[in-house]
Amino acid sequence: MRHVRLHPESHLVGRIGWLRAAVLGANDGIVSTASLIVGVAAAAATQNEVLIAGIAGLVAGAMSMAAGEYVSVSSQSDTEQADLARERKELSENIGFEVDELAEIYVKRGVDPVLARQVARQLMAKDALGAHARDELGISEVTAARPVQAALTSAATFAVGAALPLLMVVAAPVGMLVPIVSAASLGFLAFLGAIGAKAGGANVVRATARVTFWGALAMALTAGIGKLFGTVV
Ligand SMILES: [Zn+2]
Repeated sequence: MRHVRLHPESHLVGRIGWLRAAVLGANDGIVSTASLIVGVAAAAATQNEVLIAGIAGLVAGAMSMAAGEYVSVSSQSDTEQADLARERKELSENIGFEVDELAEIYVKRGVDPVLARQVARQLMAKDALGAHARDELGISEVTAARPVQAALTSAATFAVGAALPLLMVVAAPVGMLVPIVSAASLGFLAFLGAIGAKAGGANVVRATARVTFWGALAMALTAGIGKLFGTVV
């Protein structure tokens, strides 16, 4: 997805980028919806009111994720398109300079100057724009920005995450709502944190502790605010 560096194992990098985005979206959905639910429930709302607030939070969050991701990835895509258009123009106007430029990039990476020119010529004979896009601009298929795909992925993963604490609201017996939603949400967060860490080859315990800490903090804050305003109002 975005910001993925060029790497020999681009397939692996691409898959981890996708999984990372999905885990992050679900994390956001769990933390924000569970916090909203706990805050509203702490203000002594009925189960029905809590459910409505939670569903509104799910929809609002998913839309906001989609809009944010669409705008951010679109602007990246615009930049990439402008870069490619400029490159295409340069290639059509001064091909000799462009061969030198590409060869120079390979020389800087450690390739022998004679071989570098040969590589540059051969790559450009096959796909001049592709070679310059990859090695000069850093745009590859992995990094190519896809705004609609990014927006839908973010919205969907957020909604899946948000649905977990909402299901707990339905399942929890009255009076046990806050402890059950909090505990289950922290459990979901820990599970997702472990999956993300395992896929990325990171330390599982540290990653799990990190997400559960921030989740617990968010819920404690909204619960405190709910209690405060629930009793004042
Ligand atoms: Zn160029």
